[in-house]
Formats: sequence, C-alpha cells, structure tokens
Amino acid sequence: MIYKASHIFTIAEEPFEGGSVLVRDDCICDIGIGLHEKYPNESVVDLGNCVLMPGFVNAHSHIDYTWSRNQYDALNLWDWISQVGYRSGREPDYDTALNSAALGAAECVRSGITCLGDSTPTGAAAEAISKIGLRGIAYYELFGQSMGSDYPTRFQQKLNEVCKLHERSSKLVRIGISPHTVYTTNIEVMELCAGSGLPVSIHLAETWAEAEYTQYGTGPIADWRNRMDRPPMITGLTPARTLEKAGLLKNGTSLAHCVHLSDDEIGLIAKSGASVAHCPRSNAYLGCGIAPVTQLKAAGATLGLGTDSEGSCMRFDFFEEMRFALGMARASRQDAGVITAKDILRMATLGGAETLGLEKDVGTLEIGKRADMIAIDMGDVLAGEDLSLAVLSRSPADVVMVTVDGVEIVKDRKLAAQPSR
Ligand SMILES: [Zn+2]
Repeated sequence: MIYKASHIFTIAEEPFEGGSVLVRDDCICDIGIGLHEKYPNESVVDLGNCVLMPGFVNAHSHIDYTWSRNQYDALNLWDWISQVGYRSGREPDYDTALNSAALGAAECVRSGITCLGDSTPTGAAAEAISKIGLRGIAYYELFGQSMGSDYPTRFQQKLNEVCKLHERSSKLVRIGISPHTVYTTNIEVMELCAGSGLPVSIHLAETWAEAEYTQYGTGPIADWRNRMDRPPMITGLTPARTLEKAGLLKNGTSLAHCVHLSDDEIGLIAKSGASVAHCPRSNAYLGCGIAPVTQLKAAGATLGLGTDSEGSCMRFDFFEEMRFALGMARASRQDAGVITAKDILRMATLGGAETLGLEKDVGTLEIGKRADMIAIDMGDVLAGEDLSLAVLSRSPADVVMVTVDGVEIVKDRKLAAQPSR
C-alpha cells in the first residue's frame, strides 16, 4: 500500500512535499517522490492535504485512571493522590478499570498517539492497549511499602502476574514494572526491580517535597506517610541519588516528571542511560512546577513527552501537550530561543520511542521501521507557515488516519474495528 500526502515529515530528515510512503505488511519499505510510478501494481491511498508523519509516543500515562478526569480540583499532589491512587477500600474493580482504560486508549488513538508507556496497577491498561491495536509498554505498578517484610515472596508473585499479563497481551505490548515512587517503595524492592530484566518506569522528583522527605524525613510527604502509618523511606540522599543506590538509574529505566532536580541530579541522569518522560500539563495542574527540560536536553538526557493520567492532564490531547511543553519551557527560561517546535515534535515522536527503548522500531518514518504513522489534515494552513509550528497548532479532530504496525486503526477520522493480534 502506498500512502500519498501533500507533506511527508519523517522526523529523521527535513519535511518534503508531494511524497509517499510504501508500507508492506507491518513495515515501511520505501519513502520518496514518485513511488506510484516505481511500484505501479501497488494500491494507493491519497491522503490529500495532510502531513504524514510518525505517530506520537505518549511516554507516560495511566489510562486505568481515566475515570478520575475532572474530579478533583485545586489539590496538591500529596492530597490529590489520596483521592485518586490511594483509595483504600474504594479501589475501582477490574471491569471499571478496564472500561476506563479502554476510553483512555481510544482518546489517545484519536489524538494521533500510536505508542504508550503506561503505568497500570491493575493490568487493565495492557488489555485495553492490546484490544485497540496500539503499541506500548504496560508497566505493572507496585507500591513496595505495602509488601512488608515478606517482600521477596510478594515480589515474585508480582513477576508471575507480569508473565500472565504478557501472555494475555498482543504482540505489540511489552510488560514492564513500575515501583510507584522512591517514597512509596523501599530500597530492597527497587533493587529487585533493577535486577528483574524488565523495563522500569518510576515517578521521580515530581514535587519539591520529595527531596526534603528522602533527605531529611520532613515536609508534606512525611505528614502524608505518617497519616497512612507507613514506614519511613529516608535515605539521606536526593531522589536521583537514591535511585542510583538501588541500581535503578540505568538504561531501560524511564523517569516520569523530574521537575525538581539539583544540578548534580541533572548531570547524573543525563549520563546514566535512564530517560525522562516530561509531563508539563500534569506538573502545572498539580502545582508541582516546571521541569528543567532545556537544562536536561543541554546535558544530553533522553527526553520524551507524556500526558500522565486524565486526572491531572484533563484530556489526552497530545497537540495541547506539545504546545504547553513549548510555552512552559520558553516562559520558565524567559527566552524563546531555548526550544523550537521541531525540538518538541522530536520529543513527541523519536524522543518518546527512545525513552521507552523502542527507537529501533518506531519514532521516525524510515525504511525498515514499523509502519506507525499518522496523517494530520492541514486543510486551512496558509502558504508560508512553518510546518512544525503548524503541526503543533492542530487538534485531535484533524487526525485523519492512524496506522500501527501497518494496520489502519483510525480511518477517515473514525476508529476502525481491529483484528485480534
Ligand atoms: Zn504518573
């Protein structure tokens, strides 16, 4: 199948006009101008006035929690999390989580997201991502402090659940593991995660209070942990140094947020091989702050873009996430030159793929990569508009087509029924 569009933006190279992409089975086989003449027997889908580009990678989400959208206003993270995440005796049952995850997955697809790095306490996200035909890593979430002294046995049980989840998921979904945060787990469980061989995601330095708690055992997180009667998790180290001690600061670990980092931690993370999932709307909504994303970039860190849950981003609108990332980075540095729209698009595609360790397969349109593509309607874009800025200015309603692994999961702006795989 040849997909023809007015603009091809591979992300790997400069955009060009009037080109096509040849997809055979699940892979990109050719990219260029005049492919319909080179391959005369191939069917052609003419997308018209669209940008054809790699699908967006949402490097950090929680689609299980779509139910929490627009429920809790004006709460700081440590108060909000008691309502959304720590609902002792009020946890949603599996079917509720699955319906929530299915709704979230559908919204992601409609926004041009083809790949998710999703942390899921129930495993429902893996089922929803599989069912809709998305690609991704579902990180099975655990809260190490609740494992108590029996943590080796309980961790082994978690690994068994990971295996079962893997068997139930599609071939496009990998299962990882996610110790929730440094302060809701313990060193021993983080060490077991580091040695598990699984991809890992952890929330890191989301608020200023996290470093105060891990170093000194004081502040609002200490108050919250004491109210829940949890054992202390005070290491005398900053959050990133704590992760380093546990062996988790390495390739294959994705760090969500990283809002409050010292210069030492920025350098440490950039050199460690761990990646950062930047979630600017969630960080603003929960009053956490603005991540030092341009400083991390300058230090050489791998950066992807994430939405977090709809409980803190309101909608899985990746165009809004990109615009917000651009605006907040410039506003926080009081310098419009610190980041470009093209930098943001790279972060939203290839950067996200690198964050999840999937860059050999997706993140750009290149021959040999998997055909995860989106077509965005550029109908009313004026002559002379910068293409990267123009893409950022669009909305989910402009996403005309989405393919994952060569299968069209959005066609004519509508979700298509999926074969099981
Ligand atoms: Zn999160």
